[in-house]
Amino acid sequence: MTSPKSGIKVVIVGAGFGGLTAAIECHRQGHDVSIYENFPELKTLGDIISFGANGGRIYTRWADGEIARRLRALSIDLSEYGFRIHKYDTGEVVYHQRNPPQNPEAPIFNGHRGELHEVVFNYARDELGIPVHLGQWVEEYFETEGGAGIVLKDGEKVYADIVIGADGVRSKARELVLGYVDKPKSSGYAVWRAWFPNTDMILDPLTKEFCENGDTFNGWIGPDVHFLFSTIKGGKDCCWVLTHRDEHDIDESWSFPGKVEDVFKVLEGWDPVCKAIVEKTPALVDWKLVYRDPLPTWVSKHARILLLGDAAHPFLPTSAQGATQAMEDGVTIAVCLKRAGKDNVPGAVRAHQDIRYERVKLVQKSGEHNRDRWHKTDWAKVSEDPKSIGFPREEWIHLFDAEKHAEEVFDDALKRATESDTASPGWIVVAQRV
Ligand SMILES: Cc1cc2nc3c(=O)[nH]c(=O)nc-3n(C[C@H](O)[C@H](O)[C@H](O)COP(=O)(O)OP(=O)(O)OC[C@H]3O[C@@H](n4cnc5c(N)ncnc54)[C@H](O)[C@@H]3O)c2cc1C
Repeated sequence: MTSPKSGIKVVIVGAGFGGLTAAIECHRQGHDVSIYENFPELKTLGDIISFGANGGRIYTRWADGEIARRLRALSIDLSEYGFRIHKYDTGEVVYHQRNPPQNPEAPIFNGHRGELHEVVFNYARDELGIPVHLGQWVEEYFETEGGAGIVLKDGEKVYADIVIGADGVRSKARELVLGYVDKPKSSGYAVWRAWFPNTDMILDPLTKEFCENGDTFNGWIGPDVHFLFSTIKGGKDCCWVLTHRDEHDIDESWSFPGKVEDVFKVLEGWDPVCKAIVEKTPALVDWKLVYRDPLPTWVSKHARILLLGDAAHPFLPTSAQGATQAMEDGVTIAVCLKRAGKDNVPGAVRAHQDIRYERVKLVQKSGEHNRDRWHKTDWAKVSEDPKSIGFPREEWIHLFDAEKHAEEVFDDALKRATESDTASPGWIVVAQRV
């Protein structure tokens, strides 16, 4: 159901999951929204991506559940297999974590990033008719007290009531909001990642079991390393990610190529099944996990530009929440704009930050905690309490309903944001408070 028109013009930069969700939710809440995106055409890029139940809840509200049904058809189904966690050297399964039954109102989705992205992108552009301007690199952002806008490569200016910078980890909008370039630091870890067909896997007796009986998910946990392997689409596609120590400080890119020989070095002394999987990988990506301290603010001086998704808060993969938190952002700003109205867009933007900031910071921390728990496993403790090595599914993260929450707390958040805004100029106050 779509709300009455608000008359608020929203420009979104970036058509990742963050930008698309913000656009779809702004459309649902009655705002007039358009997207500007650098890529000239849609390509199925990336590999495995996760959406927690708190993201699934957002998807199920679109097109009477039809979008969730489309995503389900592309996503891994672990209702039978669950998640099997192995000790890295012996290969023994130390814990078999069963999947809870899917909640139809808040299902979990794990699948190929490019395939899932295409479903959401097509829904926004082709079914909702949201204008998505592709091949448009945004050069500059600007704002006044009365509005904001962007400057495109050819010099064209686009004006709006609010600009949402959903422009990813290398955000340009972030420079304007912070007033300086925020350089990422090395996190001390990197991830090799691969997605490939099962062609060679089914020919090897060591690996064919993963491709013959439906979808599977296995993890091998070792000192400062974890290797996660899944098969999907009934075992036809294979995907692995291996997180390991790495101090190199390179750009946050998805397409940097990696070498299997380097992976083999890390896997020395490991269960031979791991090497048998990796050696069948035609190509892999080497993704350096950079770290950013939480930004002091996501809101520009006049509160007409808002950072959203990875531009505001990149996540470690061990939180499995990066894309979902970007979605929650999109839901929240759309509700705040509806509640504050066209005359108080800055209030909406500041209330959004008030509502989101602490939750995002805590979820970000959960990624570090999960990684450290696995990388420093106490195996004696695991034999006494196998559950202790399971992947946590915290209720405060997964049972969250971002839309309901924003509706409930909006008035208080607006009051707090307005009070701190009158005390001294906007963004400095926000920076001190958080
Ligand atoms: C190509 C790609 C592949 C990825 N693969 C995976 C994966 O396999 N697994 C995983 O967990 N996560 C992956 N991610 C990251 C994941 O999608 C995000 O962490 C998460 O979904 C949050 O998304 P976001 O919308 O905030 O940012 P992003 O998904 O990074 O989207 C940002 C968008 O902004 C656009 N943009 C940036 N600057 C400008 C500009 N100046 N002008 C116009 N447009 C601009 C970019 O082209 C991009 O489409 C990938 C991201 C990208 C871009």
